[in-house]
Formats: sequence, structure tokens, C-alpha cells
Amino acid sequence: MQSSAEDRGGELTRVPRRRSLLGRPSLLVVYVPAVVAAHLGLIIALLFRTPFRLQDLATFAALLACGAVCIEASRRLGMPAGVARDLLSAWWLPVALLLPPLYALLIPIPLQALLQFRVRRTLVYRRGLVASALGIAGACASVVFHQVVPEPLEGAPQWVVHAYPGIPAAVGCAALFTIVNTALVAVAAHAANPESRWRDVLWTRESLLLDVVELCVGILVAITSALTLGMLLLALPPVMLLQRSLMHQQLQAAARTDAKTGLLNAGAWQREADTELSRAQRTHDALALLLIDIDHFKRVNDTHGHLIGDQVLVGVASTLCHQLRDYDVVGRFGGEEFVVLLPGADTVEACRVAERLRGRVRRLAVPAEEGTVNVTVSVGVALFRTHGEDLIELLAAADLALYRAKESGRDRVCLPAVDAPRPDDA
Ligand code: GH3
Ligand code: MG
Ligand code: MG
Repeated sequence: MQSSAEDRGGELTRVPRRRSLLGRPSLLVVYVPAVVAAHLGLIIALLFRTPFRLQDLATFAALLACGAVCIEASRRLGMPAGVARDLLSAWWLPVALLLPPLYALLIPIPLQALLQFRVRRTLVYRRGLVASALGIAGACASVVFHQVVPEPLEGAPQWVVHAYPGIPAAVGCAALFTIVNTALVAVAAHAANPESRWRDVLWTRESLLLDVVELCVGILVAITSALTLGMLLLALPPVMLLQRSLMHQQLQAAARTDAKTGLLNAGAWQREADTELSRAQRTHDALALLLIDIDHFKRVNDTHGHLIGDQVLVGVASTLCHQLRDYDVVGRFGGEEFVVLLPGADTVEACRVAERLRGRVRRLAVPAEEGTVNVTVSVGVALFRTHGEDLIELLAAADLALYRAKESGRDRVCLPAVDAPRPDDA
């Protein structure tokens, strides 16, 4: 499933783009070629052991053609970075279930090449890893399914007519396909960004739901094409429609997100913050705003280059995310400036959170060619009602507090007028 692979590969996208693997974390430099070599090795091993039958070749060609049609359709929709779910498993899952494992190893190669050249160019090693993960995952599913149903295309397919044990086996193999594919890509995503949480590179609730939808569609297409290949013509339009609505939804989500860090972008943050502020007004709850700016960030760029600068931004963003609660609203406001809304936080709580964030960022070490890069942040804190009645006033107050933090030596937390109480004063 290119979709979930690209999805989890998001961690790979959020790190700065180097054209080649060299210079990336050493685990990644070893891992990606190893997965690609395993994929190619399996193809060579199976090439001479797989009997070539006309029916298999026709099924392969038909499913490949359907995949290509879907890719061309997505090309017209546009597929910017961040749009990753493409429902292509509707085509490669049937290949894995119906045909010998060799075909499952082969199909991602032309389709990933088509995606690369016709839809969106991405780093070649990344595309290679995604293709190999899909191929290996498909081959695993294929081997297991053929143990239960040795000839899935034979005559009137009995595994479809007498649903047991063929259909449960198909469901199990579809799940196996997703698990293997996800695991292979997640290791690379984690190697690319060791700061990322395993939970995030493996499964989120949303990606799990999409996996289930994709697998259901893949199994239905497999059953349809096992009965009569011509039925694929009936399956193609609804799959394309589903793909279109899925991509539309992702385009909307991508428009809210800062591509570099994965945080909310300024516009989306402002909309969410306005909603929280209205709620605090209604419920008379406390609310605080933090404006966080990396100290001397220009020096990081000047000393280590923009790519490392970008890695620092990604590291700071993920440190902030990990330290905050799910309902805190975190965004990237500008270049090296982040903004956090803390619903329910009073002065003491806001300063305690700000101090914790400052401390955690201090401990962040981003690998660079010459050792590691460390940065500090200055934080301006503003409290709803005390320093402002609406978002504009709060932002202005936090900006003033940030200015005080910078003026008084950086690497500190300040309020607009009086110094922040230390957490232990609470
Ligand atoms: P201060 O402590 O006063 O905040 O100093 P500073 O150097 O952090 O602030 P300044 O505003 O002088 O420089 C901010 C730098 O951030 C300049 C700009 O090139 C860099 N920057 C902005 N956006 C990005 C980005 O997306 N990636 C990288 N690598 N650098 C960025
Ligand atoms: Mg700065
Ligand atoms: Mg700044």
C-alpha cells in the first residue's frame, strides 16, 4: 500500500531533503539499501521458479492497467506533499492474493515509477524504499494466501463461492500485508528522525481507519476479478471516485499543516485559537498563550547550513508536541517562531509549561556533520484577561514578553510586565 507507506514516511518528508542517502543517519544509510536488495534478491530468486501462465499474465496486466489509470487520474487532481493516501492497494492487494508471489514483488516497480515521473517527484531512495516495502509485504501475503488457496484463479473460484476458509484467509493476508509494509517503512521513518515516537510512525487512529477501508476495497476487487476479469471495468469507477474523495480530504488537511514541521500553519492555528478563546470567554476558564522563538537561529544556519537549520526546526517542533497535551494548540507562526495556546492554564501553570519546554529544547541535540547542534529558546507568556481580551491583544502581549526575554539575555521565560514566577514558587 503506497498510501500508508507514504503516510508513515511523513517523518521522512519532514526532515530536510537531501538528494542522496549519504549524510543521513547511519542506520538509514544501511537499512534502505538492505530492504531494496532483499526485494531485488527475491525477484531474481522467484523469476526462474514461477511458471508463466497466460491467465496470470492477463490478470497482472489488467490490474496494472487499473492502477495506472488511477495514477493518471490523481495526476489531474494534483498531489502535493502531504497527500499520501491514494487507494492503490485496491490494485496491488488483488495481485498478491490472486497471483504467485513474483507478481506482488513486481507490481510496485512500474506503478511507483509512474508516480515518480507523472505525479510527484520525491527522493529516489525514498521511492525505492516504498516500492520494496510494498513488494516484500505483497509477497508475504501472497505466500501465506497460496498455502490456504493454492489456485485462486482456477475455474469457478471455490474460495469465493464457498467463502470459508478463503475469505477469512484473504482478510488475514490483507492485514499481514499492511503490518509488514508499515513495519518496513516505520523503521526507516524512525531512523530518519529518531526523535519521533514509534506510535506516530506506526499507526494513528486515522491511518488505521484508512488502512481498513483500503483493505476492504482491495479484497472486494480481488473477489471481483477472480470471478471474471471483465468485472474490473465495473470496479474501476467506484474505486476512482473513492480515491478522489479521499484525496480531496487530504488536500484540505494539508492546507492546514506546515509542511516542514507537521504543526498547524499560522492560519489554521489562528482559527483553532479563536475557537478556544470563544470557549474560554463562555466558560470563564483560564487560558494562556506562549510565543516561542529559537535564540540565535541565524547562527545555526550560518554555521551548519539551512538543511541542519531545518532539522533543528523539526526537532524543536516535535519536542514541543511531545511535551504538550492533546488539546493544547501548537503552531508554527513564522520562520523559527512557534506559538502555543494552553486552554485552562493560569499564570503559574503557563510559566511552568513554558519552563519545561525551554528545558526540553535545551536538551535537544540535532546531529550535524561536526558533532551536534544545541539551541535554546526564549518564551513570551500572555494570560487571557490579564494581558488581553482577544487573540490580537494576547499575541501583542506575548510578543512584548518575548522581546523582554530576548533583551534580558535569551534562554528564558518572561511575562509582559513582571518576571515569570518560577515553577517551584507555586
Ligand atoms: P534571535 O535570538 O534574536 O531570535 O536571533 P535569530 O538569529 O534567531 O533571529 P533572526 O530573526 O535574526 O533570524 C531568524 C533566521 O531564521 C533567519 C532565517 O534565515 C531563518 N529561517 C527562517 N525560516 C527558516 C526555515 O524554514 N529554515 C531555516 N533553516 N531557516 C529559517
Ligand atoms: Mg530567533
Ligand atoms: Mg524570530
